[in-house]
Amino acid sequence: MQYISTRGGGTSRTYSETLLRGLADDGGLAVPQELPRVEAETLESWRALDYPALAAAVLGLFATDIPADDLARLCTAAYTSDLFPTLVPLRPVDGDLTLVGLSEGPTLAFKDMAMQFLGQALEYALEKTGGVLNVLGATSGDTGSAAEHALRGKDRVSVFMLSPQGRMSPFQRAQMFSLQDDNVHNIAVAGVFDDCQNLVKQLAGDLAFKAEHSLGAVNSINLARITAQSVYYFWAWLRASDAVASDERAGFEVSFSVPTGNFGNILSGHYARAMGLPIRRLVLATNENNVLDEFFRTGVYRPRSAAQTHATSSPSMDISKASNLERFIYDLVGQDPERLRALWAELDATGAFDLSAEQPRFADEFGIVSGTSTHADRLATIRAVHEASGEIIDPHTADGVRVARDHVEAGVPMLVLETAKPQKFAETILEAIGLEVELSPALRDMLDAPQRVTELEDDEAALRTFIDEHALR
Ligand SMILES: *Cc1c(COP(=O)(O)O)cnc(C)c1O
Repeated sequence: MQYISTRGGGTSRTYSETLLRGLADDGGLAVPQELPRVEAETLESWRALDYPALAAAVLGLFATDIPADDLARLCTAAYTSDLFPTLVPLRPVDGDLTLVGLSEGPTLAFKDMAMQFLGQALEYALEKTGGVLNVLGATSGDTGSAAEHALRGKDRVSVFMLSPQGRMSPFQRAQMFSLQDDNVHNIAVAGVFDDCQNLVKQLAGDLAFKAEHSLGAVNSINLARITAQSVYYFWAWLRASDAVASDERAGFEVSFSVPTGNFGNILSGHYARAMGLPIRRLVLATNENNVLDEFFRTGVYRPRSAAQTHATSSPSMDISKASNLERFIYDLVGQDPERLRALWAELDATGAFDLSAEQPRFADEFGIVSGTSTHADRLATIRAVHEASGEIIDPHTADGVRVARDHVEAGVPMLVLETAKPQKFAETILEAIGLEVELSPALRDMLDAPQRVTELEDDEAALRTFIDEHALR
């Protein structure tokens, strides 16, 4: 399997090469030349597999350059019971909805599912090439901690993670800063998240500095993350269909509701569906930053500026420009790089593009429908789910539950992806149901642990010096 750019330029690459390189050379995103197909018999043959074995089977269709034994070893190491006490449990909320538990990992958010595999795969690919990688990123919370917990202690990889000083929750700070591993560098910048991101862009844009320091990224456009996320769509379908009579399984459809920010998680669902998994609807749920809901309802994509982005109580979905949408549009325009480039040229020139003529295809052909959930919706949903089932869901998952309700169809199970645990967002839980979420002893220890962080001014030169002194070579 080879990977090519959505923009049509550059050369094709293997999975491992794509993993180490990030963006394609022409500024596009790496996509599989042709998506693998999974026939009903293959799907059925996967039913008895445990999660790591299923991951090796699904990822084996993408990472054809990694020998099957090696891939199985990487998946076993990524999905251990130390890291994930349970792996993707399905829990019914009521007669209509079922939660898919993706937040059992070390940072209590779904990003662990893909990031832990990425950490293993990166180390493996670097061993093969003999190279090193210094991951440079900016975070407002979830991504940075998932990356650090996946890369801590790994050989040949180090992490430089910028975060806005004093703007993360105590819980998020503790999750990152309590790590004492030598290869993890927490840098608290005197500024806001956009300042952190600008610093990363400046350094990554300096190609000489980037090459000299082997800088890389593990952001949401990373192909290993997208493919690793597809695995749990297969897993959830298999578990939802376990109870279905064996001669009715082949046509058995489920729908998924996905709390969405950068269009990463739901893109993995789109790929699983395109590979042949019987998915009826992919329900895209946004918060008040609903640029994607707007696109899927109208066909007009108009990203917004940082200043137009609201700070909401589901903060990991506060985005106004969805970096992975380009991969979906590529499929929508028949994988035609010329049409894709024309749309992005229009976007650059006018701030928007208009695909309203294609809008009916979003649902009819790709199964994608959408909706927006607000702060009041989140509170009401957290309360309603708690009353109905005793279960406390986090605000992002609540957005998914809220929007899912509008798209439930008789006879089609609606599986809502649980993207975080409520412990991470205790303030909103308190506001919704008046309860303090309980913390496990391990989490209380983490909050009290000594912290390791370097404070820097919002200054490119200072960051260059710091990286120069600490980068692996
Ligand atoms: C990252 C994140 C999301 C959004 O996921 P995307 O892949 O960017 O769409 C939703 N919920 C939580 C808790 C997250 O951390």
